[in-house]
Amino acid sequence: MVQTVRHFFPQLNTWLERLPDTRDRDRRVYATRFLAWWGIALYLLQLGSRRQLDYDRREGGPQVLTNLNRLAETQQTTLPVHDTLDHFLGHVPLTGWERVREQMVQRLLRMKALDAARLLGRPVLLLDATGLICFHRRHCPQCLMQRHGQHTLYLHHVLEAKLLGPAGVVVSLGSEFIENADAADARGRSAEEVKQDCELKALHRLAPRIKKTYPQLPFVLALDSLYGVGPVFALTQDLGWSYVVTFQEGRTPSLWQEFRALRPECPENALTRTWGDGRGQRFRWVNQLAYEDSDGRCWKLNALECTETTADHERQYFAWLTPLPVRRKTVEALAQKGGRERWKVENEGFNRQKNSGLNLEHVYSTDPEKWKAYYVVRQLAFILVQLLERGSLLRRLAVEWGRPVWKLFGSLKNVARRLLDSVRFVPWEAAWFDARQAGKLRIGLDSS
Ligand SMILES: [Zn+2]
Repeated sequence: MVQTVRHFFPQLNTWLERLPDTRDRDRRVYATRFLAWWGIALYLLQLGSRRQLDYDRREGGPQVLTNLNRLAETQQTTLPVHDTLDHFLGHVPLTGWERVREQMVQRLLRMKALDAARLLGRPVLLLDATGLICFHRRHCPQCLMQRHGQHTLYLHHVLEAKLLGPAGVVVSLGSEFIENADAADARGRSAEEVKQDCELKALHRLAPRIKKTYPQLPFVLALDSLYGVGPVFALTQDLGWSYVVTFQEGRTPSLWQEFRALRPECPENALTRTWGDGRGQRFRWVNQLAYEDSDGRCWKLNALECTETTADHERQYFAWLTPLPVRRKTVEALAQKGGRERWKVENEGFNRQKNSGLNLEHVYSTDPEKWKAYYVVRQLAFILVQLLERGSLLRRLAVEWGRPVWKLFGSLKNVARRLLDSVRFVPWEAAWFDARQAGKLRIGLDSS
């Protein structure tokens, strides 16, 4: 883990130390980067809650302080008490954490660590929204309100943009919290009376921010059918980006009909693949479908479909729309990287964070600014976890032990367990921290 961090992010401690920390300088017991690591470790070690963090790290092992000091390059003499992290997060604005994430992403881009997952030379951004927390009574003025029969639920959602990497790695690149801004007039009014924020509006805030941070990158957005509408097509065009969006009959019925009508007329636009495991894929496509959106704008869109048959004759059907050229040479990449990989945001990005110790739905703080900070800290940890799990270093270790990774650790959850044991009981060797040595390592991201 130490070597993975040093290899990919040799500057991480500098970045963490530069977090805008508004704590009183004279009364600080802990260095900024030490507390930042303390927070990242909460998720890295997949501890269920802050209390468990205290238990496991304070009383849990003789090496915790020494190892964390080495990781953060600090000389702290005690471990923080329970409220220290929460207090610290109250003193570091969200933008500070977002800046660290940006530095991590920029570094991965410079290393070209994620380039193998590009689609027609363009980096793929997977977008999806998820619920973060839900209350039965109003928790803050920005809560989204949703009527369920007699009850109103108060929710907070987040729209995530994750950069697709090889080996199923997805790197959080931007988060936009979906919340009602005109809070003042929400008081005492019903869900129907308040103009609710939504995913589409959040995308229109998030995308220009990403463009500002990464002006050179010609992103392809991988989107679900909700986003298959004129305003999103216009937004991506304005930004010089592209998209692959799930094509669904109900979202754009006239376009769907046209696709079905024209498909038999271009029989040459077909490709069949048969795989060793008995799986078969049949691709078909129609280019240059005309579409007029609700604002009267005209678009030329290319549609592609993939019918997949498993060895036991189960069939699955997928279809997408894109302005990118669909050809015999590109159709598979478009379907795979632009279309099928999108589930990774759900599976890797969210379900995994929910179902594993990363505890997406566990609210570490009810202070909206703080839990947003916890959320972004979690994204930082999740980047590290994935680089560790999918990096070839772990695989090489497994080869040395003569076992596959999953057998070495049982499951990926156990990687965190082992890591925790290691933090607690194993005196970490100085050589592991040698940045020059770590720089020389070749860590590829394994796709097997
Ligand atoms: Zn709220």
